Order: sequence, then C-alpha cells, then structure tokens
Amino acid sequence: MLTVDNLEKTYDSGDKALKGVSFEVSGNEIVAIIGPSGAGKSTLVRSINRLTEPTGGRVSLDDTEVTGLDKSALRDVRRDMGMIFQEFNLVERLTVMENILSGRLGYLSTWNAFRRNFPPEDIKRAREILSRVNLEGVENNRADELSGGQRQRVGIARAVIQRPKILLADEPTSALDPDTSREVMSLLTDIAHEDDIPIIINIHEVDLAVDYADRIIGLSDGEIVFNGPPDDLDQAA
Ligand code: ADP
Ligand code: ADP
Repeated sequence: MLTVDNLEKTYDSGDKALKGVSFEVSGNEIVAIIGPSGAGKSTLVRSINRLTEPTGGRVSLDDTEVTGLDKSALRDVRRDMGMIFQEFNLVERLTVMENILSGRLGYLSTWNAFRRNFPPEDIKRAREILSRVNLEGVENNRADELSGGQRQRVGIARAVIQRPKILLADEPTSALDPDTSREVMSLLTDIAHEDDIPIIINIHEVDLAVDYADRIIGLSDGEIVFNGPPDDLDQAA
C-alpha cells in the first residue's frame, strides 16, 4: 500500500505546489489525479518517488518510508515504483528490446543496456511483456523509429518488467492523439487489474479519467478537493 501523508512541496521560487496532501492507494486501483494546469498534479506524482524532493510530509510504500531514505536506499525502492513519462524518456539509439530490458537494470542505470549483456531469464520476461503491450515485430527497431503510441508502450513495458509494487504515470497521454491516448489508458487499466498493480496517473483530460480510472483525486491549488469514484464526480459537477 502507498500512503501519502500531509505531503508538501514549496519550490525555491516560493511557489507552494502541494499544501498538505494525504491519500492512500492499494490493491489494483487505477487512480487519476486531475485538476487545472498549475494545480500541482505533476509535482504530486513526481514527489512520490522523489524525482521532485518534497519539503514536508511523508510517503510510505508498505513498511518503507520513502521520504526518509538516503540516496542508495532510494534507488532500491524506485525499482518498486515504476515510472511512466509524458515524453517517454526512451534511449533513442537503443532498440525496443534494449529499452525494455534497461528497466530490469534499475532506475537511472540505463547506460548498462549498452553492454547488451542480459541474463536469459530477463530476455524471456521481456518477450512476454513485448507481447503483452503488443509490440511484437518491432522489438529490434530503434526507439526513434516508432510512433508515439508505440513509444509509450515501450515506456510502460520498461516500467512493468521491474515487477513494481506500484506504477506512477506523469501525463502519459499528453503527447499522444485522442485515439492513441485511449489505447494507452486501456492498456494501463488492464495492467492494473490483471497484474494487481495500483497505478497513479496524472492526467489533464477529465473524460479519460472518468472513463478509465477506478478513483479520481481532484487537485486544486495544491490541495485535494475531490477523492472518490468517477460517478460521484459527475454528481459533484
Ligand atoms: P500541474 O501538473 O497541475 O500543471 P505542477 O505540479 O506542474 O502543476 O505545478 C504546480 C505549481 O508549482 C505551479 O505554480 C508551477 O508553476 C509550480 N512549479 C512546478 N515546477 C516548478 C519548479 N521546478 N520550480 C518552481 N515552481 C514550479
Ligand atoms: P507541464 O505543463 O507539463 O506541467 P510546465 O511547462 O509547467 O510543464 O513545466 C515544464 C518544466 O518547468 C517542468 O520541469 C517544471 O518542473 C518546470 N517549471 C514549471 N513551472 C515552473 C516555475 N514556475 N518555475 C520554474 N520551473 C518551473
């Protein structure tokens, strides 16, 4: 279970992006964070694994207090928190397969993939995931040869191969067209429900959140203003 307790972020500029945010995520829930531009959505998702360093409050994953870890312990716990990015963050000159396998090597050690020296069991698992995200046939293509939707599916596969306890997605559909966005949301929903991985998604398209999320957290000006099922959001609107 992920517990976010009274999380705060004040940037050096003085901007208070998070003003005491608390919620829990567990099971196989897909939770969408919605809210207007500048509400703090991106800061929230990135503060959970400390890509952005929170300035107050706590984040815990099961029994581990993420906010209390030193750099090396943080590296380990980030393997349990798969991250999916708006601009995919692939290594352009590596193939699909190599990008996916780089996820097995741990966060921020992608350069290891250049050694192209992967254990057979990792390659076997990568092949399973390739078929899961429907990328069979392009596994030897370079990342820069793919469409946006394919690139995001590589990003998802790279996160999933780590067997994370939770997935964090920071605007995973913002760089994609509407149809491709729906394909990606549908894939993320399948992964949450079939693999029992909770997913937190920062998304600005409310209709996508309502159609695919199990729960919606509404942020406004750094505070939670809604936390409940999509049906209740319709009634509140
Ligand atoms: P959202 O994702 O909802 O658009 P953000 O988390 O990007 O919101 O931003 C929340 C607030 O924090 C905004 O006022 C934004 O200008 C500010 N902010 C975001 N990133 C930084 C940063 N690196 N430095 C200073 N202020 C920032
Ligand atoms: P998005 O709309 O995707 O949240 P932004 O354009 O707000 O992206 O932010 C782009 C980058 O600039 C991010 O790294 C964010 O942290 C940073 N940023 C956003 N707002 C500010 C700000 N007020 N001061 C400094 N950096 C900011």
